[in-house]
Amino acid sequence: MARIFCVANQKGGVGKTTTTVNLAAGLAKVGQRVLMVDLDPQGNATMGSGVDKRQLQLTVYDVLLESATVAEARVRSPRLVEAGCGYDVLGANRELAGAEVELVDQERREKRLREALATVAGEYDFILVDCPPALSLLTLNGLCAAHGVIVPMQCEYFALEGLTDLVNTIKQVHANLNKDLQIIGLLRVMFDPRITLQQQVSDQLKAHFAEKVFDTVIPRNVRLAEAPSYGLPGVVFDASARGSLAFVEFAREMVARVQKMPG
Ligand code: ADP
Ligand code: MG
Repeated sequence: MARIFCVANQKGGVGKTTTTVNLAAGLAKVGQRVLMVDLDPQGNATMGSGVDKRQLQLTVYDVLLESATVAEARVRSPRLVEAGCGYDVLGANRELAGAEVELVDQERREKRLREALATVAGEYDFILVDCPPALSLLTLNGLCAAHGVIVPMQCEYFALEGLTDLVNTIKQVHANLNKDLQIIGLLRVMFDPRITLQQQVSDQLKAHFAEKVFDTVIPRNVRLAEAPSYGLPGVVFDASARGSLAFVEFAREMVARVQKMPG
């Protein structure tokens, strides 16, 4: 059965989408069966996985509104398959922005994704959900569906402060909606060890969160930033780039962590 992880942080531009697509590609590369769910109406994770969001017949929007199943809506980019990093994509585009409003007076509105993913969980080892930069109903659907949350963060001065809201939301979801939910880990991304402040914040993170901080550190690496404009994860675009190697290493760390998780 698939382990389901949300990549969440209510801040924009912290590396959620980069983490989701590169972890998906990295996991596929080490032999895991992966479904990537794009929960952000910007559709960056969809495009970054080699899938044109404008061409999609069915998206996660249709799944949330229960007019399509995951099996009907998922797609897979042949370019990623050719590269040996193929994974399924439940894509998103602008239409998803309307879901928030359309779901608001519907029943089980925060459990739609959870129920939909349960129908395909047996077909995957990992399901990764890229969340939008807000603690919205869409993110709530992701948190309700997940076993764990991966929190990418830059080691900046305000990094710890920004975590409080997310940690509180996760606690509430854990208490009221999804008792399986836990923060699986904090991932240091866009890291530059030459910057003393980043090193200090990294040390603080480890002091506060101990083993919740992943061992793998994702460096700042321009190849990871260039890859989306080619419609590819960095791991596929330039497999030997430092950032790509780090994400494959992170995929291995995730596989090892999952083996240690209960159930
Ligand atoms: P989010 O999904 O949280 O908004 P993104 O993953 O889109 O964040 O990243 C924000 C920007 O930072 C993007 O332009 C992305 O290419 C760039 N970026 C992300 N991770 C790295 C990295 N490790 N090195 C260099 N650039 C990165
Ligand atoms: Mg994003």
